[in-house]
Order: sequence, then C-alpha cells, then structure tokens
Amino acid sequence: MNLNELVALDAGSVMATYGRHPVAFVRGEGSRLYDSEGREYLDFLTGLAVCSLGHAHPEVAEAIATQARTLLHVSNLYYNDVQPLLAARLDGLLGAQGPGGVPRGDGGRVFFANSGAEANECAIKLARRYGQRHGGADRFHVVSALNSFHGRTLSALAATGQPAKQATFQPLPSGFSQVPYGDLDALRAEADRLGSGLAAVLLEAVQAEGGVNVAPPGYLEGVRELCDDTGALLAIDEVQTGLGRTGRWFGFEHFDIAPDVVTLAKALGNGMPIGACWAKAEVAKAFEAGDHATTFGGQPLAARAALTTLEVMERERVPERAARAGARLAEGLAQTPGVSSVRGLGLLLAAELASGDAKAAAAACLEQGLIVNAVTGTALRFAPSLLVSEEEIDEALAVVGKALASGH
Ligand SMILES: *Cc1c(COP(=O)(O)O)cnc(C)c1O
Repeated sequence: MNLNELVALDAGSVMATYGRHPVAFVRGEGSRLYDSEGREYLDFLTGLAVCSLGHAHPEVAEAIATQARTLLHVSNLYYNDVQPLLAARLDGLLGAQGPGGVPRGDGGRVFFANSGAEANECAIKLARRYGQRHGGADRFHVVSALNSFHGRTLSALAATGQPAKQATFQPLPSGFSQVPYGDLDALRAEADRLGSGLAAVLLEAVQAEGGVNVAPPGYLEGVRELCDDTGALLAIDEVQTGLGRTGRWFGFEHFDIAPDVVTLAKALGNGMPIGACWAKAEVAKAFEAGDHATTFGGQPLAARAALTTLEVMERERVPERAARAGARLAEGLAQTPGVSSVRGLGLLLAAELASGDAKAAAAACLEQGLIVNAVTGTALRFAPSLLVSEEEIDEALAVVGKALASGH
C-alpha cells in the first residue's frame, strides 16, 4: 500500500489519538529507516529512545526468531528459562550502583511489565505496599515533579506533572502531587505537609519528555537525604534515560545517589515491548504472591529480546559510545547557526532554536530525510542509536544546518 492508501485506511480504522506526520515506515536497518514510497531516512529519534542498538540489529533479530520457534509464552504461574537470567543480568547492572560503586548487600529484585507506564504502575503499587508495612494505611502518597512524564495509564498520569494532560481525565487516582523540578525547598515543604503519609518520591534524572531538563547539581542528592530522613522511597524513572542513553548505564549515575526503586522500558528490548521495575531486595520484599501480576510480563520472547539486547550493550560498551558520540553531536549542534543552546547528557540532547519554531524545524528535517522531534515548542530532541557512527552524526548535523538555514 502507498502512503495515501495507508493514511485513508488508518483514518477509517485507528482511533485518532496521534497527530501523525505523513510518513509510513516499512523497514529499518541500523540508523536508517525506509518509507512506503521508497525514501531513506536517518533516524535520530529511534522510536523515542527505544531502538538503542539501531533497527533490526542482527543478533537481537536472530535471538527473537530462534525464541519464537522455541517458546513464545508461558504463564507466570510457572517458571520459564529466560526471565530469571534477564532479572539477574539487570540486577548486575543496577545492584552494583551503590554510592561510590559499592555493591549492595542483597542486590535487588525485578518485576517485568510490558511498557514504561506499567513499570511505573508497579513502582507505585510497591511504594503503597511498602508504605503500609512501614508506616500504616495512610502512607500511600507519591510526590513527583511538574513537567515530568511517567506514562498514560491513570495512576502514571496522576504522577505525570502535566496539568493539561490530566485535566480531561478527572478524577484521577488520589495520593499524588507534584512540585517544581529541581526545587528542593518545594519538595521539603510538600514532605512536611504530608508527614508520615509520604510513601515515595518519583523523579526522572533527566526530564526527557519535559524538554530534556537535567537535574540541577545537588538536587537528587538532597532528595535522597530527604527520603532517608522521612523513610520515603526514592524511585527513579529511567524509562527513557536508562541503559546507556545518557553516557552512563543509568541517568542517576551522573549523581551521587542510590535509588530504592528504578523503572525501565524503552530501550530494554530494542523494540520488543518490555518494561521492568527494579527494587532493592528489602523494598521488593513488601510484595507477596498475589500482590501484582501481568499475563505477558517477562514472557520468554520479550525476555529473550531484552537479554540479548543487554548482552550486546555490555559487549559494545554503549555508555562509553553514547558519551563519545554525544559529545560530538552536542558540539556540532552548538556550532550550528540557528541553535542558541544545547542541553542534555550523552545521546539524549535538545537544541534550543533561535527561531523558536521547533515543529517547523522538525518538519524541515523530515523533508530532508532526518528524523528528530520537537520536544518543546522551541527545542529539537536528538536520541539516535547508541551505535551511531561519526559519519551519521556529521550527516545529521548537515541536515539540521540546512533546515535551520532555510528559515526554520
Ligand atoms: C516513555 C516514558 C514513559 C512511558 O512509557 P510507555 O511505554 O509509553 O508507557 C514513562 N516514563 C518516561 C520517563 C518515559 O520517557
């Protein structure tokens, strides 16, 4: 089918929840995507930081195909031979990230879900269960930040600090509030107001959807201290920042903190839908059999894709590659006429535009074969494959330069 036919079929059959660009992709390879009309694109968005090893990574594709021929799915009422391997591998990355890199005694435990929102649902339910056991029935409140993004299910939306997205879905679940990001005094005041009702603080190390806002120096360290003082859990949403994207394995590693709970999703399966909620062992213990469940979470197919993704990521040392490639991209963007400033970490970057019209600039880039998006009205977001080459970065910079020079 060509683009016009696909658009017409979509309009008559798919719910109109997305404002889509007029492009239909049919194939991908590495940093390249191909559309229904045979055009080639350089993908610097990777499905929103999902395909961190690039499209159709041969090892991940092979692992998926082999697993599909072997065993796709079994119920979580039984063990399968992939899920615990993946959990142990993830815990190997997360459990060793105590302050100063000192491994935590008993490491952590993982619950597998199917998306970022579901990973956060798990974190919220775990915080409530932990709060009940360590404080009582009134300890269920979760404080997050304004301008955050935690997902679109009702409770993830209740934690998402974007009043415009919340307004049309009232009433949302109770027990949530938001404070300005980076403002420790505001968080302290909210914690004082809630007293022993505060169960958890949920934050991103870099607010990704909110505009690529990096936590200011000292902020997360101060939040950690507040959580230690009040007994609240510190949950870090690494759904977009996790797994090498920021130049470290996790965004929080740019700061001197150890979270109690970490959520992951986007890059975990390199395109296979899978989410994860990791918690320190003593926190994870708050859940007992029957407290939380999902049909698909941690099934052999998705778990195999994620296990292979992590193996390739570790072998390729993706955090170091992201740091190096990110420095080149950030430097190039900063030197591009029409870019007023660049922010972000590693390969999660935003370029603030002098013209102030990021939508038009993203459309001009797409027209010239480069996929980026307007993360705010005035800034372009860049989140390419962590295996992106220097040549691809230079090619993308040339397109951005041309698009901005043409008045966008
Ligand atoms: C994308 C995202 C989510 C939601 O993930 P879904 O898979 O779309 O539910 C949650 N938190 C952050 C930080 C995200 O970037």
